[in-house]
Amino acid sequence: MEILTPEGALVESDDWWSEAEVRRVTRLCARITGDPTAADDLAQETLLEAWRIRDRLVDPSGSSPWLDAIARHVCRRWRVAGARRRSQELSAELPPEHPSFTERDELSDLLEKEELADLLDRALGLLPAETRVALVARYADELGTTDIAQRLRLSPEAVSMRLTRGRARIRQLLETDLRDEPVAQAWVTRHGVAWRTIRVACAICGSASSSMRRDPRAGVVQARCDRCDPGGLSSSWSMDNPALRPHLTAVSRPSAVLARMAAWSHAWWPDAIAAGRASCTRCGASVDVRTYDRPYEDPRVGRGWHASCTACGEVLSTSLLGLALTCPETRALRARRPRAHAVPTGRTDYAGRPALVIGVRDEASGDRVELLVDDATVRPLGVVASV
Ligand SMILES: [Zn+2]
Ligand SMILES: [Zn+2]
Repeated sequence: MEILTPEGALVESDDWWSEAEVRRVTRLCARITGDPTAADDLAQETLLEAWRIRDRLVDPSGSSPWLDAIARHVCRRWRVAGARRRSQELSAELPPEHPSFTERDELSDLLEKEELADLLDRALGLLPAETRVALVARYADELGTTDIAQRLRLSPEAVSMRLTRGRARIRQLLETDLRDEPVAQAWVTRHGVAWRTIRVACAICGSASSSMRRDPRAGVVQARCDRCDPGGLSSSWSMDNPALRPHLTAVSRPSAVLARMAAWSHAWWPDAIAAGRASCTRCGASVDVRTYDRPYEDPRVGRGWHASCTACGEVLSTSLLGLALTCPETRALRARRPRAHAVPTGRTDYAGRPALVIGVRDEASGDRVELLVDDATVRPLGVVASV
């Protein structure tokens, strides 16, 4: 890697750092910022900064922690600059065609310090202990990911994941349990992203009450049903995921977005499940595809598959209902019969093994599609369309 010094001289960084070290710093920057696209530039900046102050490195054997400290400083500076830029943009809502993918929605960018303290106060009792500890370290103690990782004896990836989930949960609380608190109003005013009712019937209850929102600051497109689960989400897609982004940005009509994402999901999940492994859709690392099971929930949504990347923290998941709804047979049925919706999970026998029946049915015509799933392994067995 060549780096350009302010004096205009090209420096071969290889003389200073091994390729492996450069890659390590790049990965560290990606982890700290959660933004792999900015990591190369930040690593460059780190090495440049290190070269500039190279005289201060007295003990070469300590060069890794030294570089790490510089990288953390560079990343923090980048984040602060980003936050300043975002707060200047807040008054002007970004049009949906030009979302800012790389700028993550940080609670601290949208709320004043006192508001944030107040929010944590109110929200903490509603969060699981491990999420709570990570959020307090981040927002009350203002620590970076690496420092939190050290404090909690976790990997930075695990901390990133907890923070991402914690922020998502807090956002959800601001729209539900905490909706009437002044802090929620401050957040909504500045966040400025509202749910819009869409003309696509809910695939779970069949009612015409689903909503969608495009949130450029959080970098997500989300859908929910106001009747089944007004506080929850039926889908959430990250616009900064390089595999999803082209589909989420190619079209703006909600029905077109849903159709595209269903097609994408069907193109990805069955193969990933069959193989038990897949390439991470964000960073390309190899990830295990595993089942999840929340026994206290309806098996249609309580059971399913997830692909969690330990390298970048990306988590994709699909419920059994998600698999049933995105298969081509169901999509064809719903195109013809828009009110067709999910029916309660059935049970049957398939080749002598207990199987679950995840069905979608149109009440008026009786047309239906059923996905059969092995009860023990949760593997899809086949699709039966009766039309
Ligand atoms: Zn519904
Ligand atoms: Zn990844």
